[in-house]
Amino acid sequence: MPKAKETVLEIDLKALKHNFEYLKSKLKSNTKILAVVKAFAYGSDANVIAKYLQDLEVDYFAVAYVNEGVALRDAGITTPILVLHPQAVNFKTLIARCLEPSLYNAKVLNEFIAIASEEHQTNYPVHIKFNTGLNRLGFWENDVDYIVSKLENTSSIKVKSLFSHLAASEDLNEKEFTETQIKSFKSIAKDFSKTIGYQPMLHLTNTSGIINYPEAHLDMVRTGIGLYGFGNSEKENKHLKPVATLKSIISQIHKIEKGESVGYNRSYISSGFEKTATIPIGHADGIGRHYGHEKGFVIINGKKAPIIGNVCMDMIMVNISHIECQEGDEVIIFGKQSDASKFAQTANTISYEIITAISQRVKRIILK
Ligand SMILES: *Cc1c(COP(=O)(O)O)cnc(C)c1O
Repeated sequence: MPKAKETVLEIDLKALKHNFEYLKSKLKSNTKILAVVKAFAYGSDANVIAKYLQDLEVDYFAVAYVNEGVALRDAGITTPILVLHPQAVNFKTLIARCLEPSLYNAKVLNEFIAIASEEHQTNYPVHIKFNTGLNRLGFWENDVDYIVSKLENTSSIKVKSLFSHLAASEDLNEKEFTETQIKSFKSIAKDFSKTIGYQPMLHLTNTSGIINYPEAHLDMVRTGIGLYGFGNSEKENKHLKPVATLKSIISQIHKIEKGESVGYNRSYISSGFEKTATIPIGHADGIGRHYGHEKGFVIINGKKAPIIGNVCMDMIMVNISHIECQEGDEVIIFGKQSDASKFAQTANTISYEIITAISQRVKRIILK
C-alpha cells in the first residue's frame, strides 16, 4: 500500500471480495445476496463498490433513498436496486430509473399505486415491508388483507418480495426476541402468499442475522456492514477484512513546555515537556468532537497517539511525546491494524457511524 501524502480513504477491493465470499460461504447455494450500498456504500464509494459487486454477480442492491439509486444508475449499474425508504415526491424519478420501492404503510402504497398507474406501468416490481418488532417502518401483520385487496384492484404493481428487519440480530441475549420476529415474519409471509395466490421472494436478515440465524436466510439475505469488514463481534471481525483505511500525515510537530495549552479553548494543558503533532483531518472530515480529550487515538509508526484537546474543523492534534516521528510521516486513523470498530468504541459509538461519517472531502483511493 502506498504511503499517504495527504488525508485519504483507501478502499481495498480485494478485502471486499474476501468479505463477499466469506458471507456467501454461510449461505445455501440458492440463497440470493442483496448488497446494501446506502450512504455511499457505508462511507466508501458506492459506484466503485457496486460495479465491483455487480461483476461478482451479486443479485440485488439496496439504498435508502431514491437519489442514491439514481447515482448508481448514472454510473451504469443495471442490477435491480431496492430503495428501502423512498419518499412519494421521488416516485416518478424512481420509476424512470427502474428502482424498486419498499412500500411500508397504506399511505405510500396508495401513493405509489396512483403514480404507477398514472405512468402506465403494469406489474411494476415493489417490495412490501412488515414490522415484526423493530417498530421503525413496516405494515403490521393484520394489514395483509388490506394490502392484498389494494393489489387485487390494480395491475400497475406486482409484489416481488416481502421483507422485514431484525432489531437485535447481533445480540445473542436477545435470541428469544429475534426468534419471535423470525416466526412472526414466516407466518405473515405464509398468510400473504396464500391470500394473494403467488409466492414473492422473502428476506429478513442483515449481516448479523446471516451469521447468527441460518434458519432465517430464506430466499435472500441483505448484507451491509459485513461486506465492509465488520461482523459486530470480535469473533466475526476476525473472519472479515476492513475495506476502508483512513490515513493522513503529520503536518507539523510542536514542542511545548509544562503548562502550555493546545487547541481551541485551551482545553488541553501539558503536564510537562511534550511533543504534539498536527494532522490535517477534523470534524468536517468525520472525526467528531467526541473523539477529542484523549478519547480517540491515531497510530503513528505503530504506536498509539491520543487526540488531545478539542477536535477542530480541519485538524486534530495528537500527543507524540513517546513516539519517534517526523513531519510528513504517515498517520493511520483506522484500517486493518487498528480497525474502525475499535476507533469508534473510544467515543462510545459503533463501526457503522464512524465509517459512514467520513465526508466527501476526503479523497478516495481505490486499491484493486
Ligand atoms: C442498513 C440495512 C441493512 C444492512 O444491515 P447491516 O447490519 O449493515 O448488514 C439491511 N436491511 C435494512 C432494512 C437496512 O436498513
